[in-house]
Amino acid sequence: MSYTGPGFDPPRPRRSRRGPLTVALAALVPGALLGWAVYAAVDGPGDGGGPAKASASVSASSGAPSPATASPSGDSGDRKPGASPTAASPSASAPAASGPLGGKVVVIDPGHNPGNFEHTAEINRQVDIGTNRKACDTTGTATDDGYAEAEFTLDVAHRMRALLEEQGATVKLTQDADRPFGPCVDERARIGNEARADAVVSLHADGSGAGNRGFHVILPGTVDAGAADTRAIVGPSRDLGERIAGNFVRVTGSAPSNYVGGGTGLVTRKDLGGLNLSTVPKVFIECGNMRDSKDAALLTSGAWRQKAAQGISDGIVSFLRG
Ligand code: ZN
Repeated sequence: MSYTGPGFDPPRPRRSRRGPLTVALAALVPGALLGWAVYAAVDGPGDGGGPAKASASVSASSGAPSPATASPSGDSGDRKPGASPTAASPSASAPAASGPLGGKVVVIDPGHNPGNFEHTAEINRQVDIGTNRKACDTTGTATDDGYAEAEFTLDVAHRMRALLEEQGATVKLTQDADRPFGPCVDERARIGNEARADAVVSLHADGSGAGNRGFHVILPGTVDAGAADTRAIVGPSRDLGERIAGNFVRVTGSAPSNYVGGGTGLVTRKDLGGLNLSTVPKVFIECGNMRDSKDAALLTSGAWRQKAAQGISDGIVSFLRG
């Protein structure tokens, strides 16, 4: 890829802190983004996400984000590339048998693959996603200073695996930089299906314009075409996604996206093979925008990634425990 990013903007990890009252209140509020509403009402979304707009739109529409505003590009849910990857070191998985999630299977799908940059021909191969054909996989994006999305997704996946295994879940990753590229989006879905996963989360970070900030969870829309039939998973996937969004807000303090989802942090899409071909509850999460310097400062912080992993994992635990 020949992309050359804008000037380097050094990461400045900082975040307005919430008081214990906010956390306590948010923890008590069930459902999607009520936690965020409480958070916004108490002390605003912090540095920059458009507090008035975000707060107002959350209270106005918590259930039906417009898919029309979602990114149409690629199958990853996010935008395009930027930089050289750095291979993450795989760590061994150690399935646990006991704990509150004993017997539950969680598949974590780290978006992209650090090797995709060197296998553009292979990942551009078209695969059937039911509604149409799309590229096998994409390279993913990167921060202006070259922190690759594929590195980010693997790091968060490893952190989530540790947290979920502590709860007794059996955790499987769709890739762990242990293959040259991919898997393709259809295979990513198949891995969750064949594992009979109780929940699948595909991890991403977006590549939108500077100034666009915040996270969003992508839910499968109703699709019944070819090999795709999401009718059975739309409901449970929304439940999973709402719980993840609510817990992500609670733990990270990040605001829902200020550029898609109408302030809800939820976006429904029918154009992603990874969702269309899933037969088990599945969502994507775009944890932030790598091309915005303030979001990039968060995404490149290990401490923040631990919070992100905790928030997503807490959402999964909430979903699996009902
Ligand atoms: Zn992505």
